[in-house]
Amino acid sequence: MKTIGIVGLGLIGGSLGLDLRALGYRVIGVSRKQQTCQRAMERGAVDTATTQLAVLQQADLVFLCTPLGVMAETVREMRPHLQEDTVLTDVGSVKGWVVQTIAPLWPNFVGGHPMAGTAESGIESAQRRLFVGAPYVLTPIETTPSAVVDQVEQVVRPLGTQLYCCQPEIHDQAVAWISHLPVMVSSSLIHACLGEASTAVLSLAKQLASSGFRDTSRVGGGNPELGVMMARYNQDALLETLRCYRQSLEQLEQLIQQGAWDQLEQELLETQQGRPEFIK
Ligand code: NAP
Repeated sequence: MKTIGIVGLGLIGGSLGLDLRALGYRVIGVSRKQQTCQRAMERGAVDTATTQLAVLQQADLVFLCTPLGVMAETVREMRPHLQEDTVLTDVGSVKGWVVQTIAPLWPNFVGGHPMAGTAESGIESAQRRLFVGAPYVLTPIETTPSAVVDQVEQVVRPLGTQLYCCQPEIHDQAVAWISHLPVMVSSSLIHACLGEASTAVLSLAKQLASSGFRDTSRVGGGNPELGVMMARYNQDALLETLRCYRQSLEQLEQLIQQGAWDQLEQELLETQQGRPEFIK
């Protein structure tokens, strides 16, 4: 496998391109805007880039790195240009909907999700070594040829990723907990703070905000388009986690209302002990 196609030259697509070129692959990029293609070439994220999907006829493997909402139509448009044995994978943050939609369109497809990112978006935010140490989830289904999974693994493992395989629906439920719910919780935190009625308090709070607020508000201050896509395409799993979260918040509120300090301490002890199970 020598030539890799990347469709959607933004944070993830551009970062993949930078690393894959450094690994010796020839990378051809496709993006919607000519200006983005130009910048991707200037930044060395691709060997060549164009707005025309026809260029992908040269690709052995294609990474689909567009926003979730345009993935299906992009695959329909690129299909006539691909060689029959071209391997296709995507990097979308949601897998159930993507796999259901794309697998019937291209048999040599396996869903994928690199669990790395920043609060930035677009080609200017692309960076080397973004995926080092990050989980990379592949979501084959019954009809996915094992050779396709192997080929994608061979390309993404050298990026320094930790590979996981699971069913698309299990992936979506898990990322609802650790990625999509935190975005909504963090966003609602910022929203609630901004709603402070006293101008003096709000102004002082903004000045005093430091590391604690930086940590808890980070994902709520990220790319809004991405947040909407998570909610739209992982709606059921996200709603279920939000329901559980509301219950948990209400429990804490009750303990505080009742002045049940011992019980509150017990709750906080449990969360203190539980956190390292997620963050190693
Ligand atoms: P991004 O920085 O906005 O990049 C997406 C790029 O796709 C844009 O730069 C845009 O380039 C291009 N594009 C848009 N519509 C297109 C189309 N119809 N055809 C070709 N190119 C098109 O977004 P991103 O953060 O890289 O996210 C891309 C994908 O990665 C999403 O599916 C997301 O779920 C997934 N993902 C994101 C993260 C994260 O933290 N950001 C992490 C893991 C996975 P133009 O300038 O040419 O319009």
